[in-house]
This record gives sequence, C-alpha cells and structure tokens, in this order.
Amino acid sequence: MSSTYTTIRSILQTTPLDRVDAKVLLYYLMDLHYQWPRSYLISHDLDVLSDAFLIDWVSLETKRQEGVPIAYLTHSRPFHQIDLIVSPDVLIPRPETELLVELGITSIRDFLNAHPERFNSSNRLNILDLGCGSGAIILALAKELQKFPFFDHLNFIASDVSPSALKIAQQNATKLCLSDYVQFFESNWFDQLPPEEFAIILSNPPYLSSNDPHLQIGDLRFEPLGALSDFADGLTAYRLICSQARNRLLSGGSILFEHGFDQATAVQTILHNESFVKILTEKDYSGLDRVTFAQKG
Ligand code: GLN
Repeated sequence: MSSTYTTIRSILQTTPLDRVDAKVLLYYLMDLHYQWPRSYLISHDLDVLSDAFLIDWVSLETKRQEGVPIAYLTHSRPFHQIDLIVSPDVLIPRPETELLVELGITSIRDFLNAHPERFNSSNRLNILDLGCGSGAIILALAKELQKFPFFDHLNFIASDVSPSALKIAQQNATKLCLSDYVQFFESNWFDQLPPEEFAIILSNPPYLSSNDPHLQIGDLRFEPLGALSDFADGLTAYRLICSQARNRLLSGGSILFEHGFDQATAVQTILHNESFVKILTEKDYSGLDRVTFAQKG
C-alpha cells in the first residue's frame, strides 16, 4: 500500500484528481466502508483509513484519471428529485433532461384539466417513455406525480431495446418503491408495446450523429453508444417515433422530445410533416433549444 495515503487529509492534499471529483469519490467510499456521513470528511480527516479503503481509493483514483465518469464509479446519479442507480449499460442522466420531466408534468396536468371526464373513467391515462435507459424520466415523473390526488388515474409505461438497461430501470423502480406503478417492456420503440393509447409520450432518444465530435470526449466515451447515436444523421429516432406516434396518442395528447441544441428546426419539421399541431421548443437552463413538444390535434 502506498504510504502517501493514510488519511482523508493526506488524500485530499496529494491526489491529482479534481477536488470536487475527489470529494465525491471519498463520500462514496466513506459510506461504503464505514457508513460515515459527509461531515466526517472534515471532522475525521485525520483518522487512519483501513487498507481495504485505501485499495479502493487507489483503484477509483486510477479509473477516474483514465476518464471513467464519476457516476459509473459511484453507481449513482441524482436526477430531478430522485437518486438513480447507473451502470455503463445506461446513459448517465443529464440535468438538461430534467426539463423534459418538468414539461411532461405540465402536459399531464393540462391534459387532465382539458379532459375532466377522465376522473370518472375507470380507464387510466397511459404515459409512455420510449427508450427509458435507467428509467430516469418515467421514474422522476411518477415520483413527482405521486404527490397529486390524480396519481391513481395514471399508468406509467416505459420501453427500451436493451435488456441490460431495463434491468437497471427495474432496480431503480424497486429502490424508489415505484415498481407497482411502472411497467417496463423490452421493445424497439413501439414494436413490442401492448396496443394501448397514450395521453403523453416522452423520449430522449439517441440523437448524436455518427460523426459528432462529442462522442470522443469526456463521459460520452464510456456511455453506451447505441443510447447516444443513431449512427446516421441523428434524426432517425424522431422520424420513426413520429411516424407511429399519431396512431398511438389520444386526441389532444402530447409528444415531447429531448434533442440536440441544433436540432429544434429539424424535429419541428418532422412533427409538422406528421400533422402534429401546437409545436413548440423550450430552451434548457443553459439557454439552448432542448425540448420540442407537440399535440395530436
Ligand atoms: N444529452 C446527451 C449529450 O449530450 C445525448 C443524449 C442523447 O443522445 N439522447 O451528450
């Protein structure tokens, strides 16, 4: 064992890692090995750490220096109001995707306000997340909507083509006590879904083109390529989903897409060509076009 590291203080003083990264990894190991709260980073910074802790530290430090994303090292990522389990089988949820969740909540409330008769119907309203990955979008939506009395009128459905991603999504549903409310399907977009109609369809599909330089930098190098890119012009999923979505949406239902900062016009055109109405794009917190939504007239 390297003699450089024996305490939290010595690690923080000598590690070549970014300070925030180092702290997040230390919090993770402190909890894993000793169930220590975060405040111990300061109050117990001179405690001599166990060999097992130090071996894990050196391994995480090395992997981080190789570029492995923090979320994959700690197996978790906060998103909206929830904490998600993540692995290299799923995309790491991004803060900008929280906008899709917020607009999804607004769309569901708007739909219920416009269709009050729904509250007397025994049929629940179906909400669908296509390409759910870790389950971030559908689970954040369900968690937030659980606070409202109309939650019992909703039915949450999510699909992904990757069985290993679905495993993570299901683990997340269980961890968040939502597995009774969300159904997961292994499906290429709509292909294997039950023949339901949906009030709201959301998707954050792979939208980077195959030659996008971002694929070669940062966290993206370690994420599942099939969740990031369509290996074409970045618009394949929007065309496919839009061509089938009208037949699967209730009248007055909405479709909401996350997309790249430079894809709003292209996504709007695809929606327009499929006869969607009330097409609008919202900017994310960095001021970039990020979510486009539309209604079935
Ligand atoms: N938002 C991701 C990124 O920038 C891409 C996600 C996606 O393709 N759906 O890197």
